[in-house]
Amino acid sequence: MIRRFALPLARPLETARGAIDERRGFVFARNSGVGEATPLPGWTESLDECERALEVADEAADWNAALSACEDAPAARHAVSLAKLDSEARDADASLARYLADDPAGSVPVNATVGDGSPEQTADEARAAAERGFETVKVKVGARSVEADVERLRAVWDATDVTLRTDANGAWTREQATDAFDAFADLGVEYVEQPLPAPDLAGHAELRGGDVGLALDESLTEHALADALGAADYVILKPMALGGVDRALTAAREARDVGVDPVVTTTVDAVVARTAAVHLAAAIPDVSACGIATADRLADDLAPDPAPVVSGRIRVPDAPGHGVDPAEVDADA
Ligand SMILES: [Mg+2]
Repeated sequence: MIRRFALPLARPLETARGAIDERRGFVFARNSGVGEATPLPGWTESLDECERALEVADEAADWNAALSACEDAPAARHAVSLAKLDSEARDADASLARYLADDPAGSVPVNATVGDGSPEQTADEARAAAERGFETVKVKVGARSVEADVERLRAVWDATDVTLRTDANGAWTREQATDAFDAFADLGVEYVEQPLPAPDLAGHAELRGGDVGLALDESLTEHALADALGAADYVILKPMALGGVDRALTAAREARDVGVDPVVTTTVDAVVARTAAVHLAAAIPDVSACGIATADRLADDLAPDPAPVVSGRIRVPDAPGHGVDPAEVDADA
């Protein structure tokens, strides 16, 4: 069964294709399992392509045929594969995390995200996150000069003792990135996410391996994972863009095998996909702080949140499956 939804965002979300003010997608249910497809321009197929793939999957005779129908539609595949895993985990009376891994974590650390702003605003927001218990804060950079961003990061460094990460969303030239990495090293920045445009793997490879780590995000939309792993210290894994929690877990294990640290992040999804990402993070041993504290980006949601952020961590629901009650999912919104 497929149900559509449209959820208003608490504030507009900047995407590669412009700002959006709502998240539209589909709930996919089969057997006892529930999945979610929330396409995002620039990262997945379009909403229409997603719906067409889900319609074929909905008519499919079995799970394998349903998954095959979504081969070119990662968000649709995310929904179908999650419904399958959720159904199997419920049948096994296991949480999704326990179904995915022998010894999953009971809770996972998450980062707060601070957008562009003056040094004072940036420090105020980071301080507020630290007071709420976040130990890791990701600051968006690249909207102003490198010097101005360094000033912002220094203001946070002076105001808090959080672990700092930054995300440039591909905004810099190689020269700007080199300057930023040099300056950020003095501020203990853990990593810079996507300093250079997505295609430039060679440029990223030159930046990796220093005091400041190098994380790839947008590059994963343009390059095979194996190639990206050769140019990064960290990889940002978005289950919706990768085609499912199962594929994201495989990617995380491949990354770990070559010494690259995986970071699970949502694409500002609704509660079903977001909670599945919590289980995925718990299935990765000693996972780094993840970018899954995104519930507050939505002004409304499909169901009550079984995995809220408390003091910078999310406790993994231990109910069978992902833990979002199918009876409470209010699609057709
Ligand atoms: Mg990013």
